[in-house]
Amino acid sequence: MKFPLTPQLIDEARRYELRSACQHCVFWLAARGACLHGWPDEGQRRWPLDAPDASGAAPTDAAFCKEFELA
Ligand code: SF4
Repeated sequence: MKFPLTPQLIDEARRYELRSACQHCVFWLAARGACLHGWPDEGQRRWPLDAPDASGAAPTDAAFCKEFELA
């Protein structure tokens, strides 16, 4: 699911130390750099939420995976 990446979301992610990226998920296989379920990780790998994308552009949305489980 994608949500607009608002200043409020970025601020709350920092203040409350929210975690939502693949690297924080129990299903993330760090050695393989892939999701155990084989899900595409478009936008889901990015951390912090406002980190620039591969092209260096600032993101406009945040992606949250429905199968995320905090490791
Ligand atoms: S289940 Fe979702 S959040 Fe977890 S590693 Fe796979 S794609 Fe990432």
